[in-house]
Amino acid sequence: MSIQKRLDGRLLINGVLIAAQNPSTAVHNPATGEVVAMTGSAHPQEIEAAVAAARAAFQSWSGLPGKARAKCLHRLGDLIEADADAMAQLMTLEQGKPVNEARGEILKLAETCHFYAEEASRIHGETVPNDSTDFDSIIVREPIGVVGAITPWNYPAELVGWKLCGALAAGCTIIIKPAEITPFTALAIGEKCIEAGIPAGVVNVVTGPGAVVGQALVEHPGVDKIAFTGSSKVGLHIQKSATTVKRMALELGGNCPMIVTRSADLDAAVKGAVRRSYRNCGQICIAINRIYVDRQVYDEFLQKLAVGAEALTVANGLEFPAADLGAMASAEPLNKTQEHLADAVSKGARLLAGGARPNGAEFKNGHFFRPTVLADCTHEMLIMTEETFGPIVGVAPFETLQEAVQLANDTPYGLASYVYAKGADEIRFLSRLLDYGNVAVNTVDAGIINAPYGGRKQSGVGYEHGREGMLEYMNFKHIRVRFDMPSEGI
Ligand code: NAD
Repeated sequence: MSIQKRLDGRLLINGVLIAAQNPSTAVHNPATGEVVAMTGSAHPQEIEAAVAAARAAFQSWSGLPGKARAKCLHRLGDLIEADADAMAQLMTLEQGKPVNEARGEILKLAETCHFYAEEASRIHGETVPNDSTDFDSIIVREPIGVVGAITPWNYPAELVGWKLCGALAAGCTIIIKPAEITPFTALAIGEKCIEAGIPAGVVNVVTGPGAVVGQALVEHPGVDKIAFTGSSKVGLHIQKSATTVKRMALELGGNCPMIVTRSADLDAAVKGAVRRSYRNCGQICIAINRIYVDRQVYDEFLQKLAVGAEALTVANGLEFPAADLGAMASAEPLNKTQEHLADAVSKGARLLAGGARPNGAEFKNGHFFRPTVLADCTHEMLIMTEETFGPIVGVAPFETLQEAVQLANDTPYGLASYVYAKGADEIRFLSRLLDYGNVAVNTVDAGIINAPYGGRKQSGVGYEHGREGMLEYMNFKHIRVRFDMPSEGI
């Protein structure tokens, strides 16, 4: 039986993939419009059951030695890696990215399991000296409790995995609420958790509309922390709408700039720009949305970027696993891309590549768009000031490095930024002044699992990745002990 048939209309509650009471919404393949399977809108009773299961499992899961949790996470990583092909196909079916790219994401999820397995066995506290020698302050770390993890559709495996693995390593239990249009990858991960021997109730998956099912987790007094990735608008709403005090990590939207100086290796910069503007059809929170290029190399950069964009292949990602761009995940980001394009062109931007859907009957029913380059963009245009989440990038020239920084920082967002330069002084100047949680220099891979990743300003609070990504799921406890001198034997 195919995975999507097995997961059709299911929820994972207390270690069992149950049939949802209300499996009412169809999930569509964004490349063809065909129905993949049905997904449930979790009923309030089902949400209660998931929270109750997670609460009940917390005591024993958090009581296990870190090494025992590590074993489970290693097993989970092995199982996911072994089934990467099938899980990748499933992701492409519901999300649209080409299978090879989806497979890469699944393997990164497996790596995340192994990384946090190792962190689980290294949880430790510290002893802090006091003003007088008869006291010790012992700082221990304890898991927060039950986590509600709410995730978007652009990276249906990794964005679940960062939360799941960090939380489980710390000793928390979790209820995952995936995006409406990509529920099956999360359920498939849940199924792997059962196979890996993770006890019932530790991992639960409930599906359904964010405003109902996600909101119920936000408001539930039995949920101790919300780990959310999604838009800044919904993130702010979540922060305002919690009805009890609870910990929150909010990984939100971006509007990420790239600066190319006159000393940069232009070919490398173009290659980086092509990868980070169009990968996953630009549906990445750290996608390059806008590029500022030194006036001296502006025309040469534009010409090469247009050639690079036009060389990319757009195709159905299931039939052409190695395509550069598959279908966009839904009509919504495609419409926004077209809106930003029209706005920029109406305000004087020059269209150098793309700008339309690809021709051909095979694209008729899917959400496809060609990689698009716009030159001579200004901050009057939406493309330079709002996150597009589509395969489009705006480019503008700059005269001085100061101006480049000012333009790059002219945004309420602060997730990731990119610099291509050769001069050490330029690199230092730019990387210190860019007001972003991540600055990638001469590379466009801004995040690695070993180092903390998070935004600032309207891009959010909290960190994922790295040791910090596990500590986000832990509380400190200060145990202050006063000792007497031993009465005998000194
Ligand atoms: P979204 O905010 O619309 O939805 C995200 C999740 O929140 C979904 O599961 C949705 O069902 C749920 N949700 C919606 N309303 C809710 C509510 N009232 N209460 C609780 N949950 C609710 O975002 P999206 O369109 O799915 O994803 C795209 C956005 O995610 C982009 O802005 C992108 O930049 C951002 N993103 C950020 C990061 C990061 O690490 N900072 C990573 C990936 C995506």
